[in-house]
Amino acid sequence: MTKTIKDIDIKNKKVIIRCDFNVPINDGKIVDDTRIRASLDTIKYALNQNAKVILLSHLGRIKEESDLKKNDLKIVATRLSELLNKEVKFINQTRGRQLENTIDSMKPQDIVLLQNTRYEDLNGKKESTNDLELGKYWASLGEVFINDAFGTIHRSHASNVGIASNLESAIGFLVEKELTILQELDTPQHPYVVILGGAKVSDKIGVINNLVTKADYILIGGGMAFTFLKANGYEVGKSLVDNENISYCQKVLKNYSDKIILPIDIKTAFEISNEAQVSIKKIADISIEDIGLDIGPETITLFESYLKDARIVVWNGPMGVYEITNFKRGTDSILTFLADNHIKTIIGGGDTAAAVSNNYNLKDKIYHISTGGGATLEYLEGKKLPGLEAINK
Ligand code: ADP
Ligand code: MG
Repeated sequence: MTKTIKDIDIKNKKVIIRCDFNVPINDGKIVDDTRIRASLDTIKYALNQNAKVILLSHLGRIKEESDLKKNDLKIVATRLSELLNKEVKFINQTRGRQLENTIDSMKPQDIVLLQNTRYEDLNGKKESTNDLELGKYWASLGEVFINDAFGTIHRSHASNVGIASNLESAIGFLVEKELTILQELDTPQHPYVVILGGAKVSDKIGVINNLVTKADYILIGGGMAFTFLKANGYEVGKSLVDNENISYCQKVLKNYSDKIILPIDIKTAFEISNEAQVSIKKIADISIEDIGLDIGPETITLFESYLKDARIVVWNGPMGVYEITNFKRGTDSILTFLADNHIKTIIGGGDTAAAVSNNYNLKDKIYHISTGGGATLEYLEGKKLPGLEAINK
């Protein structure tokens, strides 16, 4: 088991905590502060241990000078300070004298937040390529390191792997919680049902390969269903098709015909808009002009029949183009069914989590909504997570 913050002595020490403060910002305002709130347990625990708390996080992507201003982390220091009801000192540097002096003068229970770690990407992608010297420098600022950024745990960056390679390290409460839940899937209760959707088959091949032997059923909706339907010989019109993966789908369908469950009807339109006239069609009736944009009502009922007895469900990828009201019914219906029937469901994937977040009243009835879409996906693919490996070294 990976060491957690409780397994190491952080009392009175300078503790570097890598958080995931990568929050959505619009018009200079934080749109959703879930990720900041998710970091509070670990930060409060460190404060209770009289630690000097040094926080690091990335925000957005930094490719050019013009990306700097909109990804300034100062806005997070302000919000965090409100949530903690305590001063959070923001240092507008990722390295340098001012930063070092501020840290030198910290007292127990002080909190500082450094500028966006990806500001270092402007100068040769030092953060994102895990520049060894940068990881070593950040590690030199503290005495212990806590990785609590689940959203980047599948990446090898200077601010996670780099620091962990140079300091005594452990994971924080958020990462611990995410991992504990995902580990339930290593020895799942049965029936274990996986719901896959979203856009591309190619994004989910790793997940299919890893889960098809472990799960009892894989229900496939969303855009990726059409590559499977085409592989089965159906006309899918102008629906999204991943032509390079048709033979892959044929192989999976042949080997696991009793496990892979495909849509039997589809909501179609001639264009992707709310003004478009929609039809419900059996899959054999899809015409060459149709675009399949959501699963149909019979498919919803079919999928529910597999879900109703499930002991655990993993869901990645919306059932349709949920961003458009016309095509969100499939996603919403499945979500409502899972929530109302208290079916133990783990949701991973950025868009899937966003679709759920739109349904505030149902959100709390879902067992777990992962804060890290990419990280969850890589876990489901059976891959090792570099951020953890560096701590387990
Ligand atoms: P996640 O982020 O949860 O892993 P993906 O990124 O794989 O999910 O997929 C989400 C995207 O898939 C959404 O933008 C949605 O509009 C799109 N999508 C879902 N169904 C369809 C469809 N039938 N045709 C085209 N795009 C679709
Ligand atoms: Mg996505």
